[in-house]
Amino acid sequence: MIRIGHGFDLHRLIPGRPLWLGAVQIPFDRGLFGHSDGDVVCHAIADALLGAAGLADIGHLFPDTDPAIANIRGAEILRQTAAQIGAAGWAITNLDATVIAETPRLAPHIQEMRTAIAAALGLDPGRVGVKATTSEGLGATGDGNAIATHAVCLLHALPIHG
Ligand code: MG
Repeated sequence: MIRIGHGFDLHRLIPGRPLWLGAVQIPFDRGLFGHSDGDVVCHAIADALLGAAGLADIGHLFPDTDPAIANIRGAEILRQTAAQIGAAGWAITNLDATVIAETPRLAPHIQEMRTAIAAALGLDPGRVGVKATTSEGLGATGDGNAIATHAVCLLHALPIHG
């Protein structure tokens, strides 16, 4: 049995915050606003995984009204998501994310993101795709006021033991 999932997230870029994308801190003059660390790449991936498993979405699992998870790292959200997916009887076949950012240039950070995401999910990096593109200067992402991410994933059923 297999399941497909899709996730999307967008956060605003503001001054005075570190920029976290794909569980990697990237040097930049602004960061993503949010109750969490704003890591849209991890958030979109988590929602794809949760959706594929038929579980509640990231907003239910990590509510932005919970002071206990203020500034929670994207990697921690992925770790907890992987645990939920596994408990529900699913393993990750692969996932693929597309980051939409006008700046900064993300190509130098793609491999590190793949490695960090894979580590948080307990996967081989070969199962994790990360790509970056721009919006050709159009819209909120094109104006450089936001960064967004689309993610898809495939899950396969874990063998039943016992
Ligand atoms: Mg988010």
